[in-house]
Amino acid sequence: MKVILAKKAGFCMGVRRAVETTLATVHQADQQVATFGPLIHNPHVLDLLHERGVDVLTDLPDKRDGVIIIRAHGVPPEHKARLVGSGATILDATCPRVMKVQAIIKKHKKTDHFTVIIGDKDHAEVVGLMGYANPEVAVVSRVEDVADLAIAGDYIIVCQTTQDKESFDLLCAAILAKYPGGKVFNTICDSTDKRQTAVRNLCEQVDAVVVVGGKASGNTKRLAEIAEAKGKPVFLVESEEDLDRISLAEFAVVGVTAGASTPTWMINRVIRTLEVIPSKSQWLITTVMQKIMGLLLASNIYVAGAGGLLGAVFAEGLGGNTGLHGFIISFGYLFAMHNINRYSGQYAKKFNNPMVERFCSRYYTTLMGFSVLLLILAGCLVYPLGYRPFLLFVGMALFGITYGTQILPQSLVAVFKIKKLKEIPGSKTFLVASAWSLIIILIPNWPVVTWYPFAYLMLMLAITIYCRTSLFDVFDVQSDRIVGKETLPVCIGERKTLQFLTWSLYAQGCLALLPSIVGQGQMMILSFLPFTGYLLVLITLYKSGKLVASPRLEFGLETALYVLALGQFIAFYSFTSF
Ligand code: SF4
Repeated sequence: MKVILAKKAGFCMGVRRAVETTLATVHQADQQVATFGPLIHNPHVLDLLHERGVDVLTDLPDKRDGVIIIRAHGVPPEHKARLVGSGATILDATCPRVMKVQAIIKKHKKTDHFTVIIGDKDHAEVVGLMGYANPEVAVVSRVEDVADLAIAGDYIIVCQTTQDKESFDLLCAAILAKYPGGKVFNTICDSTDKRQTAVRNLCEQVDAVVVVGGKASGNTKRLAEIAEAKGKPVFLVESEEDLDRISLAEFAVVGVTAGASTPTWMINRVIRTLEVIPSKSQWLITTVMQKIMGLLLASNIYVAGAGGLLGAVFAEGLGGNTGLHGFIISFGYLFAMHNINRYSGQYAKKFNNPMVERFCSRYYTTLMGFSVLLLILAGCLVYPLGYRPFLLFVGMALFGITYGTQILPQSLVAVFKIKKLKEIPGSKTFLVASAWSLIIILIPNWPVVTWYPFAYLMLMLAITIYCRTSLFDVFDVQSDRIVGKETLPVCIGERKTLQFLTWSLYAQGCLALLPSIVGQGQMMILSFLPFTGYLLVLITLYKSGKLVASPRLEFGLETALYVLALGQFIAFYSFTSF
């Protein structure tokens, strides 16, 4: 079925900040980490934090060691004072926008203003806000509450940041009608507003709406109410397991939105599951194509196939080997390494893509059996090329196999603070890029007669694979953070990584043009340009929210490598070769 994601959905700035603060603290601190109250209203995120050793404190502790994190909703000032007094290190992850409301109340309390808060009395944020106004404070949740309101003197009206605008306006009008002259502060967070506007727009394009989020999350419930009010059938789910596949199959186009406490990886899991539910109006051929696409991606055949084709084209183009040899060496090595390393990254896959995780568990023996066979076959073809490329091949294979396993002795683990090579920050992307260059260009074409254009092509391919792998890391950034992976987007952030990749691709474009400019035009170098353009378009669409991480996007990203292989093929057969 066709799935459209709302323009704004999932983690808002405050929630993202609180979760990232907690994960960074868990990663760095040797001490016990706890949050005061559940960090966010999402049971899956809370379970994962619990797995990473984060406690949830429900009562104010008299004495406590370690770190206590104050959640995005904030706490009353006297609670914060008691937490500080407990002896623990306090990290305040209160959302800056909630702090702004607290500051408004604090300022007006000094001038004896009474405070009316529009919101849910029992919501953690409202409890925190009340603490700044006590005892001159009242909470209004419904129009009926206005009848009980007793205000003498000046007063202000603020609201819970996740309040919906229509009910805020309605309640403000009712309060002002009873007590004219109140100062109104619309403290609705624009994240909430943007998500609500986005779901209204989404309803115009879809037959039904799936709202992803915790059942206790107020803003998630409001998104569902808005879609219902627009006359759309609504499915409120916490995870992909709650999806009612039979009912959803009735709809050709389904919209997805998510509350501010829903992580991207959960939204992606729901989208992945929805995309493979065949709607009744869907053509059989589309269903079959989707299944084939899923199989090729899950088994790593698609990515290794692209590597194999590149190996074949470069072998023919550089004249160092036959196309068939180039294909088998590259395909065999890449298929084996991608599958072997996937098993050491299963924990991360569990969050991002449970369907692939289930596929890998089910076909473990088959995938590992083929990986070993293909690796041996590739090795047999490299052996006649000489002991140097063979040793390089064996070294790369051993490195790839041990990359995700603990090989360092305990004494070195204590010194370097890493157990496995894969824990070296940013190492995976760099090593994957280097391995692709070596196995596709250098090893099958040994011995190298002249280093130009070999080195130039290897650099170009390394940039290509670096950008492709980093983009996958961008899609997985939230779950990688949870499992403690040190990818580039985890280290420097998603936005900076996308900027860095954009500039890297511009640099690659210039490098592709340079040999032609200096009069040493090489079509195989020039033909990297379509790939560069293709990836820049993908990044632009992803940044604008028009693309989301899904099997289609993954397929599109891997297809970039086929675009590159096709460019090389055309360059080799249509123009001058080396
Ligand atoms: S909804 Fe707005 S105020 Fe609430 S945590 Fe998110 S960004 Fe902060």
